[in-house]
Amino acid sequence: MRNDAAYALAEPPVQNANDNAAVEIDAATPFADAERLAAGADEIAIRFEKFTDGRGFSLASMLRDRGFTGKLTARGDVLPDQAGLLRRAGFDKIASDIKPQSPRWRRRHFSHAYQPAAAGDEPAYLARARAARAALVEKLNHEYADASPEAIITAATRAFGGRIAMLSSFGTEAAAGLAVLARIAPEMPVLFLDTGMHFAQTLTYRDELVARLGLTNVIPLAPDKDELAAEDPEARLFEADTAACCDVRKVRPLARAMASFDALITGRKRYHGGEREDLPPFEFDGDVVKVNPFAALSAKEVAAIYRTLKLPAHPMAAMGYPSIGCWPCTAPAEGDGTREGRWAGQDRTECGIFDPRLKERAARTRSYRLI
Ligand code: SF4
Repeated sequence: MRNDAAYALAEPPVQNANDNAAVEIDAATPFADAERLAAGADEIAIRFEKFTDGRGFSLASMLRDRGFTGKLTARGDVLPDQAGLLRRAGFDKIASDIKPQSPRWRRRHFSHAYQPAAAGDEPAYLARARAARAALVEKLNHEYADASPEAIITAATRAFGGRIAMLSSFGTEAAAGLAVLARIAPEMPVLFLDTGMHFAQTLTYRDELVARLGLTNVIPLAPDKDELAAEDPEARLFEADTAACCDVRKVRPLARAMASFDALITGRKRYHGGEREDLPPFEFDGDVVKVNPFAALSAKEVAAIYRTLKLPAHPMAAMGYPSIGCWPCTAPAEGDGTREGRWAGQDRTECGIFDPRLKERAARTRSYRLI
């Protein structure tokens, strides 16, 4: 192995690294072999025979994507100009004859990145798109602060075209929202998290509502079979860890589906309490725009929609269930629209699907599959 000078790419700099302790692989190494060699290694050194060989960048990026957290060193024929790209591909340091001031020079002269990469710097095009979307949401909130659900859905449909969907639990209040949607855009995708844990009554109610309202594009989102086999093979994860169960059965399926959408219409309302108390009509979390056309409605106004449109109630509403999700985590409770009966006895009233940056998870999952 060469006894090259080493310098760090990461902040803070890596000091006194022993390059000879690293497992060295050639940039031309097939990824499966590289991944096998990386298993258990603290440091991987990737050797570039030519600075024009991009395979070392791909190897580093794929190793980072697959979870390699040790040190990554670039060795051999790499150029000072490549320091920034090497860092973004996941390298921590370069071991070569290049002068160590090069990364600092690069950082001084290039403030933005132009391609997504393992280091996670936001590319300029994405930063611009996020800023434009945040400005759009601010404008929509200004214009539709006191608007009706119909006006908000119409505005959202206009703003996000074919990249918008509604999320529905087909629970106790769902029919009101779905009925409003059916009058405006019955063909809009309606996402249903088919966790495998729903009450039979909910599934029957879903089918009844879909037929009655003329919804033409209801999409069930099931958990990934491999993830379930690995993480919840007995379908009893909810007994030990409801957050992990919701993650595999709800959050990840929705994250994957959201790769096809920019905006999601929710049925959340301020009177549900908790973190829903201050919901605006439009929210942008830097990733997905959430549209909350019913946020300002009261429980009485929701009930009025049911009466006016002669909508059927969820069969369990009359049994004392104000909010209905999966059977293991739903109990009867007092009050309209309250989420007290969800995960009763636990310190949670939300499952995580409305957490920020859902789509970033989908992007990460996609990149694994493309490789
Ligand atoms: S609500 Fe309960 S059963 Fe459903 S996904 Fe979450 S923890 Fe699992």
